[in-house]
Amino acid sequence: MTIILGVPKDNLHYEKRVSIAPETVPRLKGIGVEVLVEADAGEMSYFPDRRYVDQGGRIVAKREELFKKADIITSVQRPSESDVSMMKPGSILIGILLPDRNPELIEAAVKSKVTTFALERLPRTTRAQSMDVLSSQSSVAGYQAAILAAINSPRLMPMLTTAAGTIKPSRVLVIGAGVAGLMAIATSKRLGGKVTAYDVRRAAGDDVRSLGAKFLELDIDASSASGYARELTEVEKESQQKMLENALQNSDIVITTAAVPGKKAPLIIRKELVERMEPGTVIVDLAADSGGNCELTRIGEIVDFQGKKIVGAANLPAEVPINASEMYSRNIFSFLQLIVRNGALDLPFDDDILKACMVSEGMNGKEVN
Ligand code: NAD
Repeated sequence: MTIILGVPKDNLHYEKRVSIAPETVPRLKGIGVEVLVEADAGEMSYFPDRRYVDQGGRIVAKREELFKKADIITSVQRPSESDVSMMKPGSILIGILLPDRNPELIEAAVKSKVTTFALERLPRTTRAQSMDVLSSQSSVAGYQAAILAAINSPRLMPMLTTAAGTIKPSRVLVIGAGVAGLMAIATSKRLGGKVTAYDVRRAAGDDVRSLGAKFLELDIDASSASGYARELTEVEKESQQKMLENALQNSDIVITTAAVPGKKAPLIIRKELVERMEPGTVIVDLAADSGGNCELTRIGEIVDFQGKKIVGAANLPAEVPINASEMYSRNIFSFLQLIVRNGALDLPFDDDILKACMVSEGMNGKEVN
């Protein structure tokens, strides 16, 4: 038996990634999945159609045909409601769907009896690690944030000892030491920066130190049972501001990645703090997408404020589309191994991974999460 997986072109918000990379096509064939790819779907990731054909995929010229034929559609960001309305009853949509922000998409799926899985809701458990798109894409974003900081900084990153004297290494402060923050720390270290990091979860200190960076111990611990950070109280926010002031004034580069799931990004660097920073300082704000960690951040723009640059990083994984797509595609393959057996769909509805990320249940035509 064979089931058909459709790979549409991801065309939202200048997305450059594609949900299935050519290298994954033979692995999918191995589990009984035939891959149909919309023409030019991989173009922005530098995967021309012929690469898919060489690996055993088929190219479909019309997007409409792809959505009508597929048993499973995979995407990075969400397709449109009109795309979903063309899908077969009982078919499956998998991607970073953000159902809270896109309720109309889920309504369209329920109407068409399509089962939807929002991969950003995967549990952060060991078993789900190989499917964890948030981790794979955050790693890429953290790397890219450090590179952007280096490019935008008027200073060299590493210490240099030359005939013209010694150049001090750039002082890098990383705020938020989750997946993206840790990759930003590791990349800044490799570039030769002198790195300090801060996180409201005290447990992050061990991860930071294991990368050879200094952990800034402040007087707040906002760890929660979920492993994520909780939101700070107003009093804690004030005291965090004061405690971070010194560290911010003594940094050449600041990379912020602080986030609290389901909430607007915490505002950590207010305008008054930026005013007190030295000209030539660069802030790369990875939380720009969800409101920004810096008050002056403007998404997708570089703001010059009194000689300090604030880089509002938008969708950074899409700036490294080859590897970001390959990682995403491997995550999808792992997820599919849960729901495809011998070339047929077989959904273990009581599985904790499926339960966590299923948003609508196709044949029952209802929203579940
Ligand atoms: P995230 O994107 O939600 O947040 C990024 C970081 O910002 C977090 O480390 C958080 O503590 C920090 N933060 C929040 N508010 C802050 C504030 N006001 N000031 C400073 N820092 C603040 O987090 P993430 O990168 O998705 O990871 C969250 C946790 O999940 C981490 O502990 C990570 O190690 C863990 N994790 C586990 C697995 C797994 O076991 N499979 C996989 C991925 C992540």
